[in-house]
Amino acid sequence: MDFAQKIRVIEDFPKPGISFKDITSLLKNGETYHKAIDALVDKVLPWKPELILGPEARGFLLGAPLAYALGVGFVPVRKQGKLPGETVSETYELEYGTDTLEVHAADLHAGQRIAIVDDLLATGGTMLATARLAEKIGAEVVGMSFLIELSELGGREKLKKYPVFSLVQY
Ligand code: IMP
Repeated sequence: MDFAQKIRVIEDFPKPGISFKDITSLLKNGETYHKAIDALVDKVLPWKPELILGPEARGFLLGAPLAYALGVGFVPVRKQGKLPGETVSETYELEYGTDTLEVHAADLHAGQRIAIVDDLLATGGTMLATARLAEKIGAEVVGMSFLIELSELGGREKLKKYPVFSLVQY
């Protein structure tokens, strides 16, 4: 299936010069959504994850069906202040400023095999921060998968110590 053809590209969003890859056009199509998740399942299954971790918010749209298909749990990674229980947090650099991601400390455990999924790999900052959250708890990140990779932004290099899979590359 040509997944790239199903992804809507919007120029100059959210600011001039950015070519935004919008996955809502892929998700609304039942067959494409199903096949995209199946493709992620094929790749992630051999990593033998015990848990799927997905960053807010689009990571939920892929991570939850992936976890369901694999028969493992899903744990959301959220922006600071959203999770009610005791959290572990990780702050990372953005183009302007910083951002902080959190996970419930009790939802992961040391030695657990974790796969992380998100919609898009750009610079890799979001994914690296998510991996560090899991590693702070002592879990093992066994792989990372994305629908989309923006190859020129060097995310794969930043994540080179992990197996990385993407379905569509720009
Ligand atoms: P990174 O941290 O630089 O790799 O950026 C990846 C994060 O930014 C992901 O969580 C994406 O959801 C979001 N993102 C960046 N560019 C796009 C885009 O073109 N479409 C959708 N999400 C994007």
